[in-house]
Amino acid sequence: MTTESIDVTDELARRLASIPGLEVREDEPLSRHTSFGIGGPADLLAIPHTPDALRDAIAVVRRLGVEPLYLGNGTNIIVRDGGVRGLVVRMAGGLSEIVTDGPAVIVEAGASLAAVCFQAAQRGLSGLEFGAGIPGTLGGALIMNAGAYGGEIGNVTTWVEVITPDGDLERLPRDEMDFDYRRSTLRDSGLAVLRACLHLAEGDPAQIHCTLCDIISLRCAKQPVCSPSAGSVFKRPDGDYAGRLLEESGAKGMRVGRAAVSTKHANFVVNLGGATASDVIRLIESARELVVERFGIVLEAEVCFVGEDAR
Ligand SMILES: Cc1cc2nc3c(=O)[nH]c(=O)nc-3n(C[C@H](O)[C@H](O)[C@H](O)COP(=O)(O)OP(=O)(O)OC[C@H]3O[C@@H](n4cnc5c(N)ncnc54)[C@H](O)[C@@H]3O)c2cc1C
Repeated sequence: MTTESIDVTDELARRLASIPGLEVREDEPLSRHTSFGIGGPADLLAIPHTPDALRDAIAVVRRLGVEPLYLGNGTNIIVRDGGVRGLVVRMAGGLSEIVTDGPAVIVEAGASLAAVCFQAAQRGLSGLEFGAGIPGTLGGALIMNAGAYGGEIGNVTTWVEVITPDGDLERLPRDEMDFDYRRSTLRDSGLAVLRACLHLAEGDPAQIHCTLCDIISLRCAKQPVCSPSAGSVFKRPDGDYAGRLLEESGAKGMRVGRAAVSTKHANFVVNLGGATASDVIRLIESARELVVERFGIVLEAEVCFVGEDAR
């Protein structure tokens, strides 16, 4: 870090510490906040517990010219070993209100998608069953347009409220977000997702619970759910499956350091304990190369890469 960036970080820490409802930690290892258990430190990590705290934090970073990194539950992200300079705003652990009003469910960005699925099921609301077992937050799900088993979060979203880098609250209707396979215009927009309204359908609670349980059983049978990972590494290429291409290319079981391609599902890289981001990234590149050599297909990463390499 340069002397100038240390000064900005110190000033940022001082100003953030005075915001009510904002938990602030300095030099926080991001390995504690990713499902991979990997990642260097954030200079500052803030967890907003109220919408006002989030808005005030955004106003402070704007005045100091810092661009924050938003983190949900860190389940689709690889943080490099050098960590993240400046501020990481973690939404999981705060802002997790879920309010149901008939078939509409209004959910704050830090709420776990699993909690929303089960709450909806209890109220006999159908449409979110696909999300059972996706370990992220609602905010992360909207950014990634998370989906599985034929469902996607974008299909049940009515509107999303965001905070712009200028600190303004805006409500975006579904049409403006161009939800598509694992993407939406929210991604890389610099907007902080604050809350969203989901529109579900009335259904039979017992049947919905049954579907949730079936989906969770399927996941446990097919995916290495008990090993630290960031879910599917690559997106599905047109007309095929990344897992099939990787398996037929011989990627299963490949290792770099303490990172391995899962022997249960070739599209998952798992941390065997003590893996670094550099191990994981080198392994992902090697696996991608195998598929290029065997099939001539360049797989596109689904996971997000953030932060800087270790010095
Ligand atoms: C075992 C396992 C299984 C998985 N299965 C699936 C699956 O079936 N389908 C699927 O789609 N995904 C799956 N995933 C991946 C992941 O859980 C989803 O993509 C999830 O939606 C990510 O949510 P998150 O809160 O963890 O986001 P993060 O990983 O924390 O962040 C993802 C992106 O969203 C941004 N972001 C997060 N929250 C906000 C916010 N409030 N405002 C602005 N930006 C934000 C981050 O900057 C980052 O770019 C799986 C992961 C694991 C570990």
